[in-house]
Amino acid sequence: ATRTLAGTQLARDIRAEVTATAAELTLGGVTPRLAVVVATDDESSAWYVRSIAKTAAKSGILCDVVDLGADATADDIRASLAALSTDPEVHGIILQTPLPPGADFEDLAASIAPEKDVDGANPLSLGRLAAGLPAYAPATAAAVLALLDHYEVPLSGRTCVVVGRSNVVGKPAAQLLLQRDATVTVCHRYTRDLDNYTRTADVLVVAVGRPGLITAQHVTGDTVVIDVGTNPTADGGLVGDVDEAAVSGLVSGLTPVPGGVGPVTTALLLKHTVHNAARS
Ligand code: NAD
Repeated sequence: ATRTLAGTQLARDIRAEVTATAAELTLGGVTPRLAVVVATDDESSAWYVRSIAKTAAKSGILCDVVDLGADATADDIRASLAALSTDPEVHGIILQTPLPPGADFEDLAASIAPEKDVDGANPLSLGRLAAGLPAYAPATAAAVLALLDHYEVPLSGRTCVVVGRSNVVGKPAAQLLLQRDATVTVCHRYTRDLDNYTRTADVLVVAVGRPGLITAQHVTGDTVVIDVGTNPTADGGLVGDVDEAAVSGLVSGLTPVPGGVGPVTTALLLKHTVHNAARS
């Protein structure tokens, strides 16, 4: 039988801890504050920002949505990130994607002060992570590890396969798994015979953005699958990258979409913000 690795209870636990710390900090005169810089009118981005703001409010964290508009220039965005980076009232900064044409994410994220980089977007953060130095990992990559720990999935010496190599998910997830002494293989768009790799996995992390990419031929009975993909469906729902109907019953564990990695990601973003507020 396949274990469902839901993220809802874990997310609740993290939020409870965050709420308690935020209340303590507020009593001490420091209310944690997160700034979300937006330069798009993309609907799914707006949905995600609203959900962060709502969760922040419930946890006693101030959340400023800095909406620069879809026609903001790279310079506008850079200036905003730089100002927030030096604002002593702001403890966390996120740069929301997509960005306007001509604006490069990594280039702009370099303007986020590393200690406020709660979503690990600054290339310095990824570099520090790879070097084994303290840094905030992107919340989604951190959520993958938090889920594996929550369900007590062993990692040391195990074979982990990450599908996807983006700077926000695949690469940092691979680094975090390496830190935990897993043997890590990273697959991507140009990988040939993907199933040859994925079938070796004790833990399979999928972060691509293609519904149905992972199906029965890609897994074995021992595979624990973390599905990071979030793909909107025609009827307004959300599916992952894993063909849930095809693999459920076959694999050892599977995160649902929605209700798996997503809620844990948002909770960890807030946890990182409160952590930095406590430090400052
Ligand atoms: P991305 O487009 O930046 O990267 C996708 C990666 O997949 C690339 O490295 C590419 O090489 C690889 N890829 C593409 N086609 C492939 C194929 N056929 N076989 C193997 N690899 C292939 O995407 P991203 O930002 O890393 O996001 C990945 C997915 O995760 C998306 O669905 C996104 O919506 C989702 N996501 C979810 C959360 C969350 O909190 N749940 C957060 C961030 C991203």
